[in-house]
Amino acid sequence: MKIGVLAVQGNVREHAAMLRRLGADVVEVRKPEQLDGLDGLVVPGGESTTFMRLMRLYGLDEALRSFAGPVLGTCAGMIVLDREHLGMIDLEVDRNAYGRQVASFEADLRLRGDDEPLRGVFIRAPRVREAGPDVEVLAEHEGEPVLLRQGRFLVASFHPELTEDTRVHELFLDAVREAISVRA
Ligand code: GLN
Repeated sequence: MKIGVLAVQGNVREHAAMLRRLGADVVEVRKPEQLDGLDGLVVPGGESTTFMRLMRLYGLDEALRSFAGPVLGTCAGMIVLDREHLGMIDLEVDRNAYGRQVASFEADLRLRGDDEPLRGVFIRAPRVREAGPDVEVLAEHEGEPVLLRQGRFLVASFHPELTEDTRVHELFLDAVREAISVRA
């Protein structure tokens, strides 16, 4: 499996390390043509405004729109995929929507279909305001969705790359494997 990590900004190394641990070949993507031949793509966290600006500068916004494989977006990566930005996932998201006192926090999350809690690291995290009818909620925090899936898109408002728990990346790689087998 050849997985790209968008390397304009953010937690690129952490994602790459986790994907390698799970057996993927990782490519750091800085140019549109590097998306060719990838089986999946990770859009990491960072700062979404800077992220969008740099993506436009390198033509990565358009390239991403035409990328057809599974995509994992975390934190700012979820913001850039939403309705207001690249419009690839049917979500309306508020940026930095947790109060100042709790701007960053950790919490145990319930992952759907799994008894083991998932540790969520939230850093100035986005909050989902509205999700379209095709969006499934895979984990919640205090009744609000924090891990969601819409077809080939998996998005988390937290940072799974900052813990030792590999389950979110495994979910993503399962989707990648499935897409490869459908293609074959
Ligand atoms: N607060 C950032 C933004 O609005 C996202 C934070 C993150 O990715 N850790 O883009």
